[in-house]
Amino acid sequence: MSTFKAPKGTYDLLPPDSATFLAVREAIARPLRNSGYGYIETPGFESVELFARGVGESTDIVTKEMYAFETKGGSRLALRPEGTASVLRAALEANLHKAGNLPVKLWYSGSYYRYERPQKGRYRHFSQVGAEAIGAEDPALDAELIILADQAYRSLGLRNFRILLNSLGDKECRPVYRAALQDFLRGLDLDEETLRRAEINPLRVLDDKRPDVQKQLTDAPILRDYLCDACKAYHEEVRELITAAGVSFEDDARLVRGLDYYTRTTFEFVHDGLGAQSAVGGGGRYDGLSEMIGGPALPSVGWALGVDRTVLALEAEGVELPLPSVTSVYAVPLGEEARRVLFAKVTELRKLGISTDFAYGGKGLKGAMKNANRSGARFAIVAGERDLAEGVVQLKDMESGDQAPVGLNEIVAELETRLG
Ligand code: AMP
Repeated sequence: MSTFKAPKGTYDLLPPDSATFLAVREAIARPLRNSGYGYIETPGFESVELFARGVGESTDIVTKEMYAFETKGGSRLALRPEGTASVLRAALEANLHKAGNLPVKLWYSGSYYRYERPQKGRYRHFSQVGAEAIGAEDPALDAELIILADQAYRSLGLRNFRILLNSLGDKECRPVYRAALQDFLRGLDLDEETLRRAEINPLRVLDDKRPDVQKQLTDAPILRDYLCDACKAYHEEVRELITAAGVSFEDDARLVRGLDYYTRTTFEFVHDGLGAQSAVGGGGRYDGLSEMIGGPALPSVGWALGVDRTVLALEAEGVELPLPSVTSVYAVPLGEEARRVLFAKVTELRKLGISTDFAYGGKGLKGAMKNANRSGARFAIVAGERDLAEGVVQLKDMESGDQAPVGLNEIVAELETRLG
């Protein structure tokens, strides 16, 4: 142990478990790559103002959870709490939307930071894979993203997740609903902070998890009853497209999500084995965000899936991903000359793409074979002075335990054949 520990609310990814995280990222990325999404990487920090305008001044993310700081040069920056605002900023900055190929479809993978109260499934540093389709208003695009996330989860072997779907309306109908909801909330017995929230961002009150608040919300006006005809038709089309794709979902009239930029389609993926932090991913349409950050009108839709919680969901369902054994061949040299000779073989094998490791540190046979075992290698090659004098190495099949000498000049080809 050193004097230092990982900061509160964070944890380290260590082998062998870290392999599962890589596999999850890969499984989420695969359907995106397969559907025209290009990879984008943006900085880990951005101007505070981008998130304040993009995510919303009154959201918890911006008011309470941002790691904001001032640089030596006097810039106000924040570690990114989410991906969408940054990706849209980058796309606008590079004029990707002017290349004449809308929607611009992008995917990303990275670390995000929120100063939250840590608990299982909720961390201050977490990992997301996300996708954004920028610059098209088309229900098929919303449907595509929902279907791709569903595919990603299913390809991992997850079954006990549900898709919650709602429409938040647009700039025509949402304000009417907002006013009606505000009227209703003003008549309730709510604490000061919640009343204040009702004035700034009434939809967020619907998200309040406290039972005494929820109880009072039973008769709250429902957005669905206020949707304009265009929003209704759009939403119906999204529902039909994902139904036709065989993806089941639940209509959830209360789903609002914690970010201000959403319009129309909103959805969340929840997993029933995770307790309080049940959202494994979420997203929706954000037709107004581009203008909010100073860009042109670019209707867009996207999602972000949480890697940490997806791994927890796999654990909850008892799904073990078929992770390939890390090492195929383990070389054990006995003595100085064997070290030089086997080390050269190791390099040759690696060049051929065969994952190979080596017993370093001049261990004796027993200790080295223990390491070979632990490595999960399918074969070990062992050589001592006598073997070298005879021009052979011992090839040991770690599964059967069989061992036989193979010519030094043949061993690489032999392993290549045996490993297929
Ligand atoms: P959000 O942007 O809040 O909708 O987050 C999208 C997804 O990221 C969530 O569904 C979670 O899976 C994940 N996520 C968000 N915040 C955290 C956190 N503090 N710790 C772990 N995962 C998180």
